[in-house]
Amino acid sequence: MSAPAGTPPVSPRADVALMEGYHSPQLDVAVRLNTNESPVAPPAAFVAALQAEVAKVEWHRYPDRRAWQLRTRIGELHGVGPEQVFAANGSNEVLQTVCLTYGGAGRTAAVFEPTYALHGHISRLTGTTVVTGDRTDDFALDAAEVDRVSADARPDITFLCSPNNPTGLVEEPDLVRHVVATAPGLVVVDEAYGQFAPWSALELLGDDVPLVVTRTFSKTWSMAAARLGYLVGPAWLVAELEKVVLPYHLDALKQAAGRLALDYRPEMEARVASLVEERGRLVAALTDLDVDVWPSGANFVLFRPRQRAGNDVWQALVDSSVLIRNCASWPGLEGCLRVTLGTPAEDDRFLEALQEALS
Ligand SMILES: *Cc1c(COP(=O)(O)O)cnc(C)c1O
Repeated sequence: MSAPAGTPPVSPRADVALMEGYHSPQLDVAVRLNTNESPVAPPAAFVAALQAEVAKVEWHRYPDRRAWQLRTRIGELHGVGPEQVFAANGSNEVLQTVCLTYGGAGRTAAVFEPTYALHGHISRLTGTTVVTGDRTDDFALDAAEVDRVSADARPDITFLCSPNNPTGLVEEPDLVRHVVATAPGLVVVDEAYGQFAPWSALELLGDDVPLVVTRTFSKTWSMAAARLGYLVGPAWLVAELEKVVLPYHLDALKQAAGRLALDYRPEMEARVASLVEERGRLVAALTDLDVDVWPSGANFVLFRPRQRAGNDVWQALVDSSVLIRNCASWPGLEGCLRVTLGTPAEDDRFLEALQEALS
């Protein structure tokens, strides 16, 4: 007996069949301010160095499985050895490997909404049960709520995100310290925007502390196309992750790209500084418009039109060839939109289009 026409002959996992994928539309527009990338390319000298490196790759051989040089260079950035660094194809693959290793069937991960959607999504994909705690009305993490979730669900993994995406809020050091001290399982602090923040949970790491901090090359390093991210944590934990990740998961060219990028740290820091300045200008301009704006410690700003539906404003911007992130239907973010900081010219086009959409 064959399936009715149009029905696929095999079915995915029942839970996957019910899932929605991760949606961030890649539309063809003039101004793209929707995925928090850097608006500027990496330094030309980096691109030239990488081009020279392409010729040196032994393409017929598997790459260094442990990515030791890359991990050594990343470790130097944070004052730790390579054995405390785990690198993968974007910090999303880092998070996936953490979930495969410390989550999975019969285990639980806690997230505090609204936050980065992929923490919950990747948890579910790996069979991990997701429990959700709430933030306060101004999107702050609340110690009592974290304690409640810890006591009720005993999560194997607790996800924090600082600065939090999509709200931009930087978590209070004392609160993160409290979570790290009291959570029943592993604490993951996602610092994809860490270089924009005044403090880092990296200072809380210790060999006897079940804490990892994740970072990415996608945002501050202007290397979203390279797909490279990492975590810093205890060596014993990194060793467990290495059992789980696929062999040779980091290709040779990517390892070189990551290594070479780290030669341009001052250039990266200058880009971060100019984005922070641009953030001040954008927030000030938004404050003059008919929108609510939240303070941001990252390279994006969350806002909500007061008089017009977020969806309609988002569509009006797309019609003006400006793409931002539509969070209007996300839980806890009714009517909200998120704009990534671009170049001053891009941000001006966004502000003009927004002004028009609001009037
Ligand atoms: C952008 C982002 C990431 C980055 O993922 P990559 O896979 O490294 O590109 C991770 N976490 C958060 C919170 C982000 O916003």
